[in-house]
Amino acid sequence: MSRRRKKSIILQNKCVACGCCLKVCPKGAISIPNGIYAIVDNEKCIGCGLCERACPASIIRMGEIS
Ligand code: SF4
Ligand code: SF4
Repeated sequence: MSRRRKKSIILQNKCVACGCCLKVCPKGAISIPNGIYAIVDNEKCIGCGLCERACPASIIRMGEIS
């Protein structure tokens, strides 16, 4: 049985590295290791959508991955 899960997807070329998404993530799934754009750890993300609502640039979408 395949199970599709919604995960946070960040348009990294438009990210301004403000850190707003990091602050609201309850799982600590987002980081900005290079100081340039945010990345998501899909193993930690639970698809809650809080980061999507927090991003001032509106560049986070929730999408399904297999
Ligand atoms: S969807 Fe929720 S758990 Fe996943 S990265 Fe965004 S805030 Fe964190
Ligand atoms: S809130 Fe948006 S612009 Fe800010 S670091 Fe996260 S993805 Fe980038």
